[in-house]
Amino acid sequence: MSVDIASLRILHYPSKVLREKARPVERVTEEVRAVAARMIDLMNEVEGIGLAAPQVGLAWRMFVCDVPENEDRSASSDPPEATTRPMVCINPRFSEPSRDLVPFEEGCLSLPEIRGDVRRPSQITVTAIGLDGEPFSLRAGGLLARCWQHEHDHLEGVLIIDRMTQLSRMKNQSAVKSLEERARLL
Ligand code: ZN
Repeated sequence: MSVDIASLRILHYPSKVLREKARPVERVTEEVRAVAARMIDLMNEVEGIGLAAPQVGLAWRMFVCDVPENEDRSASSDPPEATTRPMVCINPRFSEPSRDLVPFEEGCLSLPEIRGDVRRPSQITVTAIGLDGEPFSLRAGGLLARCWQHEHDHLEGVLIIDRMTQLSRMKNQSAVKSLEERARLL
């Protein structure tokens, strides 16, 4: 394996890899499975609901997500708005976004202390490859659909600070600056 799995960590803005366009995963190898498992562990450690490969320093088109069910969202609704177990999407593509654009406050594991409103379609269909190497297609709504779209943005080098409403952008200006400052000191 060329990736040192144990050394993978969640990287923060303004890490360069967060701005790269990720490349397709050619084959679902043992290494890809090991990276996905590590990403799920890292996501769980910080109680996140999604994590994309560029956030751990790999410009691969892959993300993991796990949106727990609660009184507001279910994995058995139509379409589902939550998951019952972690899911892995490799080389994901979207289709049939709903025409609405719903604002909702998002955070990001790579942008600590930053939260802002992002408008996204409330429902979308993802087609991706699973860890078993097989393609699958699934439609989601609510937080699950939002999570997919947020993670997919990472594969394009796009962050919530690019998508936030103007008001949220202003509110987070100094937090973004301090992340940039912190990186300069490291
Ligand atoms: Zn994120």
